[in-house]
Amino acid sequence: MLSKRVSSLKESGTLKAMIKAKELQAKGIKVIQLDVGEPDFPTPINIIKAAEKAMENGFTHYTPSLGIPELREAIANKLREENKIDINKDNIIVTPGSKQAIFYAIMALIDEGDEVIIPTPAWPSYMEIVTLVGGKAKEVPTNSDFSLNIEKIKEAITKRTKLIIVNSPNNPTGYVMDIKEIKALCDIAIDSNLFVLSDEIYEKLIYEGQHISIASLPNMEERTITINGFSKTYAMTGWRIGYAVAPKNLISAMNKIQQHTVSCVASFTQIAAIEALKPNTPIIPMIEEFKRRRDYICKALEELSFKFIKPKGAFYIFPEIPIDNMNSNEFCDILLEKYGVSITPGSAFGNYNKHIRISYANSMENIEEAIKRISIFMNERK
Ligand code: PMP
Repeated sequence: MLSKRVSSLKESGTLKAMIKAKELQAKGIKVIQLDVGEPDFPTPINIIKAAEKAMENGFTHYTPSLGIPELREAIANKLREENKIDINKDNIIVTPGSKQAIFYAIMALIDEGDEVIIPTPAWPSYMEIVTLVGGKAKEVPTNSDFSLNIEKIKEAITKRTKLIIVNSPNNPTGYVMDIKEIKALCDIAIDSNLFVLSDEIYEKLIYEGQHISIASLPNMEERTITINGFSKTYAMTGWRIGYAVAPKNLISAMNKIQQHTVSCVASFTQIAAIEALKPNTPIIPMIEEFKRRRDYICKALEELSFKFIKPKGAFYIFPEIPIDNMNSNEFCDILLEKYGVSITPGSAFGNYNKHIRISYANSMENIEEAIKRISIFMNERK
């Protein structure tokens, strides 16, 4: 009954972990969720007020499908000033979440059988969206420090390769790409005539190093789709708003898909996003708190003999399990069912069966309690 296209889709590994945790919670078991990919902070009040005002003023109808011009203008200004990407509002489409922008970009570029290179570990939706549109996702593992394996990427390129997807700061590793690596990637893209989809949704959640937008490098603007959104930086996951920046013809193609599917992003959400981009939105305390938690969790995991690469950004850490003969699914199942801590198995992000993803988008109190429980688990295993 179901289409072949949908039958081959895998369920989201990250959402699966969350659903399991919620089921146990419904039975009255206190589960600490370090599986979630969303800030635990409330959306800043100035953003909420702007949306309320928009609704009271009757701004509750359809908008142009690309997004309202004022918001696209505000995003274009941000990109020119902060990201050094020389574009204007015609290069921008506003979408219900950045996930949708990624879907449109892949849908607009990939034909049946086209190949997409995805360095892993990677956010699982990239692979599934490529599969959904009939493309072939080619996973290329990164080096052991999670930097791009440039040689392996070159080897993976064939005549059918059209796109490479990168994500820095990275989900699930927190890795931040440096300029040398980015330049090497750009050389490959230019030499092999590839598009680059650069998912920069965690750009502001950075504790060391510097975020560099790929589209700001020479000759890259015409072959880069920059993805960004409001979910992570402004704690707006439920508002559903993100955007893509790309050459105009690609934006027009993506807009056609949006016109025939969701029409537009909720009107008052767009007004809220204009407010979010204003300099008075208080995001610094949230970033500082994430850094404090990262430092705590790194120290605690080190004491528990976990091996990991210290994350420089986002709000995840991707350690190796220090127990022989136990894979990531087993580790996560036992940790959840016996100790009440929900995390995500590394296998959700590629061939990483000895890794786990821990999100520190939860209160310090809960993180401390989770570490205590992990510590009991580790001691009982000895
Ligand atoms: N990209 C990455 C790397 C993510 O981790 C997420 C959310 N988990 C998204 C995109 C999608 O975010 P949203 O659709 O809420 O903008």
